[in-house]
Amino acid sequence: MAFQYIKNEFVGILERIDWMGEETKQMALKKVKAMDAYIAYPEQIRNHTLVDQFYENLNLDNGEFTQNILLLKRWNKERDLSQYGRKTSEIWWKQTQPAIVNAFYNPLENKIQLPAALLQGVFFEKDRPYYLNFASFGFLIGHEITHGFDERGKQFDETGNLQDWWDNETDSRFRKKIQCMIDQYDGYSVDELNMTLSGDLSKGENMADNGGLKLALKAYESWAKGRPQEPPLPGLEFTPDKLFWIGAANFWCEKQSKSALQNQLLRDEHSPGRFRVIGPMSNIPEFSATFNCPLGSKMNPIRKCSVW
Ligand SMILES: [Zn+2]
Repeated sequence: MAFQYIKNEFVGILERIDWMGEETKQMALKKVKAMDAYIAYPEQIRNHTLVDQFYENLNLDNGEFTQNILLLKRWNKERDLSQYGRKTSEIWWKQTQPAIVNAFYNPLENKIQLPAALLQGVFFEKDRPYYLNFASFGFLIGHEITHGFDERGKQFDETGNLQDWWDNETDSRFRKKIQCMIDQYDGYSVDELNMTLSGDLSKGENMADNGGLKLALKAYESWAKGRPQEPPLPGLEFTPDKLFWIGAANFWCEKQSKSALQNQLLRDEHSPGRFRVIGPMSNIPEFSATFNCPLGSKMNPIRKCSVW
């Protein structure tokens, strides 16, 4: 359900956008409308016969770790090759493992994956206020949908075929908007390491975070329309509109060693958690309105970046 709400918001954003050429915009609309999701787990994993068949050619050697890794790699590759010519819809095991706490977008299928392990805890609970579910789970769904339109995702059409459907003018405007975010994130420093972020390395993920959070907010507003107002959380002084932002920030809490953080800054396309909060929230005017941040302050800068 949340997926549908977020998708609808992306459609709305595309329809209102003024920097896309008409034909490119129509292709983008087609692509987002065709986007689908694998949610939780494939039904087939509950069928023991199918699962036994699936593993029947895999013979592992007890106690030989390296040998087993090689056997698994070989088995995986042979299985992949044996699927040549089959429809992707028949390849149920291509969905990610249900126990992974993460979400993915696959441009080759134009599908997002939301494994079962994500549908719990800080990300989603059906009996808690939905401003929290949209803020976390909705944020992730929006993030993955946005990947369909980042520098890699945009090279594929609505069926997952490699195809350049961007006119030159739209493409150069897109790049300008990304440049704004590259500059923004280049300006973030990690004091304990005396290092700065690389806005270029992390541009796709930052764009997805920005799009994702905006989509989550709009989707929650659409969901809440016509419903009775949800209650605040017991014991906290915050209003539901503040709790949306707190919920969206909460799940990026992390504890890292300095060397892990350094490694992330040098190699990981994902910004450290704190910047996944500060970056998108300081670009969205509704955040500053809710918390009364004066224009020109850290969380309400005059120059804001937005792609979608
Ligand atoms: Zn991502």
